[in-house]
Amino acid sequence: MAPLYHLLDPVWRRTPFPVRPRLQVERPASLGVTALRMERTWFGNVFMPVYAWVVGDTLVDTGIDCLWPAVRDATPGVRRALVSHHHEDHAGNAAALVAAGVDVRGSELTRRIVARAPPIKLYQHLFWGPMRGAEVQLLGTETEIGPYTARVLSAPGHCDDQVVFHVPSEGWLFSGDAFIHEHIRMFRGDEDFHATLATLERLLTLDFDGLFCGHRPRFTGGKAALAAKRQWLLDLQGRVLALATKGWGASRIVDALELRPRSFASRITFGDASAENLVRAITTGPTPRPEVAACCEASPAGA
Ligand SMILES: [Zn+2]
Repeated sequence: MAPLYHLLDPVWRRTPFPVRPRLQVERPASLGVTALRMERTWFGNVFMPVYAWVVGDTLVDTGIDCLWPAVRDATPGVRRALVSHHHEDHAGNAAALVAAGVDVRGSELTRRIVARAPPIKLYQHLFWGPMRGAEVQLLGTETEIGPYTARVLSAPGHCDDQVVFHVPSEGWLFSGDAFIHEHIRMFRGDEDFHATLATLERLLTLDFDGLFCGHRPRFTGGKAALAAKRQWLLDLQGRVLALATKGWGASRIVDALELRPRSFASRITFGDASAENLVRAITTGPTPRPEVAACCEASPAGA
């Protein structure tokens, strides 16, 4: 039987939520990178902002579909767009960019998922809004980002299809959602803890300082921030497993470790982005979303 959010997705797509989208163009000092910061507000609550990055003729991630006219106006010279993963706040404008003649690229698995524009949950409709399906081209192991050459590296964990873009000459890592925060306190139900740790280990072997995260960029000290996240997750894993061996459930562990987020945004996900799911990801593993799992199974070569 289809999950409830599959049945409700067409309803939410037609619902005119009273949200206000906003795009701000920011230019971090002397980096040569333009940040497009996008967010939606709902009755004064700011949902999680997301960034896309403009480097010369290249857009790294594409932002949210409802802000397409503003993204288009802010990116007149863009000829290429790179999508780190299929989530609607990163691949949201893939369809509009393809229609505008931009060369949009993603991993094999991202291509499969974005082509389907799978159903999303209510909070995702509120935070960022839905995306349309798009025919995205396949990334190779290297890509140009403006005048620079970037290595394309698989970075699963946050989701199976994620890739990141490393620009060795500048010491930059465009990390999609591989970072988000040093002391992350919640996971989506489908996030893979152990794949996340393995990805962080591999990324920490790279040479970079600028961390162009999709949500909380660090223009300097980025590698130290990523190392702090890895250490936080390792410590958390030890504390969670120590309590889990006593037979404690996820909710009791969350309370004992004071992990419970208090933000409005976390409450409105109705448990999908939660500390309990972070604990479960450690103890029992993720719960894949069926529409994404179907694309993974159809892709024996993986991402
Ligand atoms: Zn994401």
